[in-house]
Amino acid sequence: MLYNYGPIGNPNNAYIEGFVYAHVGDAVVKDIFAGTGRKHAEVVGLIEKSFKPQSFATGKLFTIRTKTEYHPEGVGRNVLAMIEGSDPKLKDEVIIVGGHLDHLGRACVLMPGANDNAAAVAVTLGVADAMAKCAVKPKRSILFLLFGAEEQAVAGSNYYVNTNPLVPLDKTVCYINMEAAGSGDKMNVMAGDNFPALKGFLDKANQSYIHRGLTSSPFANLGRPRQDVTWFLWKGVPGVTVGASGFDPGRPTYHNSYDNLDLITPEIMEDLAQLLFMAIMDMSDEPVLDFRQKSTPRLPGMNAGACSGLTLSGASHPRLKRRGFWPANG
Ligand SMILES: [Zn+2]
Repeated sequence: MLYNYGPIGNPNNAYIEGFVYAHVGDAVVKDIFAGTGRKHAEVVGLIEKSFKPQSFATGKLFTIRTKTEYHPEGVGRNVLAMIEGSDPKLKDEVIIVGGHLDHLGRACVLMPGANDNAAAVAVTLGVADAMAKCAVKPKRSILFLLFGAEEQAVAGSNYYVNTNPLVPLDKTVCYINMEAAGSGDKMNVMAGDNFPALKGFLDKANQSYIHRGLTSSPFANLGRPRQDVTWFLWKGVPGVTVGASGFDPGRPTYHNSYDNLDLITPEIMEDLAQLLFMAIMDMSDEPVLDFRQKSTPRLPGMNAGACSGLTLSGASHPRLKRRGFWPANG
């Protein structure tokens, strides 16, 4: 399978025996379509319009050579810490906040992963530090959860959600995930459109204290999981991914060596930590907190559990409009 994304260090897909998955740039796509009488963009347009495959014989035979390694013995770690709620009843419910702590290591060159996802780890630690030092304790329990092996088929959060959740999922109020939280001057809440009540807490904290641009978008992870929050959503646990935006480095920085400190604007991380601290403290004190919207239809193509709160509005979906829109990816 060829994926037209451009060269990146690791497509964070799962290992499937006999299945070769590669990312290629426009030059290769052009070669494949040359002389076929069809254009790549038109074919993609038809798929997006019809949601149907547009297969045809290209008459081309080509060879791709790649050197990959598979390490099933590899071990990842999830790192977590919890502040127990102060209310004897509400403490059984948990609000989770975090992101993934792994990146790509050395894939030919060192991939620092400053924005993806060290920034989210730093913001999580900032919120945890403030909450641990705060004299006012949250009524609900707050779980700070940093996932390992997100870049390896989203394995750490898969393990947490599907094998070993610390708190039962039906007692999990929501998971606030962070991706690309370190670069820019604005904030975005992916899946905020699906959970307006949850997003409302972030809006309130922003309007009261932070005063940044704060946009929201629908759930944008179609197909295989690309973010830790996806496993939660597939199990019917409300969740969003908070990130930063607004800085254009003038070249791709996703899964390559340019995701480094040059990309980072510390002020947005500080503001995100404060925003999440306020919003989560606010959430934790609500007498009743239920972001699950049981009447909302399921997202097509999702097979696991209830997908409450998720809708898909066909071809108008931003994920389809803006292919490669990077906060959809982890
Ligand atoms: Zn990533």
